[in-house]
Amino acid sequence: MEQDISRVKSAELFEKAKNYFPGGVNSPVRAFKSVYGTPLFIERGDKARIWDADDNEFIDYCCSWGPLILGHNHDKVRDAVAQQLDKGLSFGAPTRLENELAELILTNNSYIEKIRFVSSGTEAVMSAIRLARGYTKRDKIIKFEGCYHGHSDSLLVKAGSGLVTFGETSSAGVPKAFAEETIVISLNDKQALEEVFSSFSDQIAAVIIEGIPANNGLLIQDKDYIHFLRQITQEHGALLIFDEVITGFRLGFEGAARYYDIQPDIITYGKIIGGGMPVGAYGASKELMAHISPDGGVYQAGTLSGNPIAMSAGIAALRILAEPDFYTKQEEKTRSFIDTIRAYIDRRNYAVQIFTVGSIFWFAFTDQKSIKRADEIDPLSMEKYKVMHRSLLNQGIYFGPSGYEVGFISSAHTQEDLNQTIEAIKTALDTAFA
Ligand code: PMP
Repeated sequence: MEQDISRVKSAELFEKAKNYFPGGVNSPVRAFKSVYGTPLFIERGDKARIWDADDNEFIDYCCSWGPLILGHNHDKVRDAVAQQLDKGLSFGAPTRLENELAELILTNNSYIEKIRFVSSGTEAVMSAIRLARGYTKRDKIIKFEGCYHGHSDSLLVKAGSGLVTFGETSSAGVPKAFAEETIVISLNDKQALEEVFSSFSDQIAAVIIEGIPANNGLLIQDKDYIHFLRQITQEHGALLIFDEVITGFRLGFEGAARYYDIQPDIITYGKIIGGGMPVGAYGASKELMAHISPDGGVYQAGTLSGNPIAMSAGIAALRILAEPDFYTKQEEKTRSFIDTIRAYIDRRNYAVQIFTVGSIFWFAFTDQKSIKRADEIDPLSMEKYKVMHRSLLNQGIYFGPSGYEVGFISSAHTQEDLNQTIEAIKTALDTAFA
């Protein structure tokens, strides 16, 4: 085992933070509960690299959990934010920047006609669910085990026992009555979906799925299954919501909708569209969006919605993403990175799979060549991830602090960064399988 990096200053900051915040953090997974050691407190980032409070340097594959597809401190994004800083931080009134970002999105994305900006992915999904309920005048929603949609009440629900059951709350504080409106089933199970629809056909407002489920490993679904979702929802007058908070503008400007060639009814976005600032959005056809206030009866609002700083960052970022070949290059870079690691894994005969789509990847410690459902992941396999994660940190590579989290490659990752990472991953895998 390599020598552990110094975490003296991070540990001091964490001790202090525990006095202020529950668990010392403002979002639970940051607490490093699933991996070795105290969380690293990050001081700064530039391109593909971050530095922590102890001045350890890392090549970053967490990328702020996805938003930083251009890497840290991109000059165009930074300049756009700096320019807006001179003009003011927030007005709570419309600005031309909202038009600009909307135009950029809507002219390059054929799956939505109107959009509403909010401040987080959670808010985007919560609002999309309300729109679906308001439009259909039905209450129940179907979600899938292993998909995360933010922390609003209706969505903090896990599968109950039995094939077709109402969900159970997965957080204290979520009223049972709310959980009863959410039906949770397994991914990739047509029969379960058919049974739910035959039991509750005229009560189901929407089926919600992550564009490509990427919050519980990377559970890439077959095209055929996604088309089945489209068909069954249409047959029963329910809406199909694609939660593209991760996949939106990551797989391409048109996200998973284009990847699967599917027209969802509502699409939610977050992360990348804010260029690293807090933004979320939901979009749909003009007809559906006419139901949102002040045009329609579905209320949704926000003091900081369309915030000028966040809009400026988003515009600068998305302009770069809209350039020809941006996504092709990302994908090629990721594929060659993953192929090289796979070749090593094959040579060593390690029980590891790397699932990948676009510039997203996930290491699964298993022999199973395909994983499409949350319950196909063996929790014990996470022990190996823990060892790999520690070894990677010791070698200057920052992966997300849980084996269920996916990794992201940004345009700032150079071939040199990737080569350095490949060598570190080989060592980390040797350590995990020693
Ligand atoms: N939906 C998906 C698919 C997500 O990945 C996330 C966050 N990881 C959310 C919703 C919630 O977004 P936020 O954390 O910005 O509230």
